[in-house]
Amino acid sequence: MKKEIHPDYKDCTVSCACGNTFETKSNVESMRIDICSACHPFFTGEQKIVDAAGRVEKFKAKYAQK
Ligand SMILES: [Zn+2]
Repeated sequence: MKKEIHPDYKDCTVSCACGNTFETKSNVESMRIDICSACHPFFTGEQKIVDAAGRVEKFKAKYAQK
């Protein structure tokens, strides 16, 4: 590999919105994610709506009155 042109490949702490954290490798030191393998519906078998911006709530409020 060429010197001085590659970003560092270092330990990275990933923290999920569900509270789970795990270590991996990346060129950044930490990441915040909304969903991980511990809380993804594929692995939990439960329905989960990923709704960071409140769009599902807005939709329900808009159509509840009709
Ligand atoms: Zn998670």
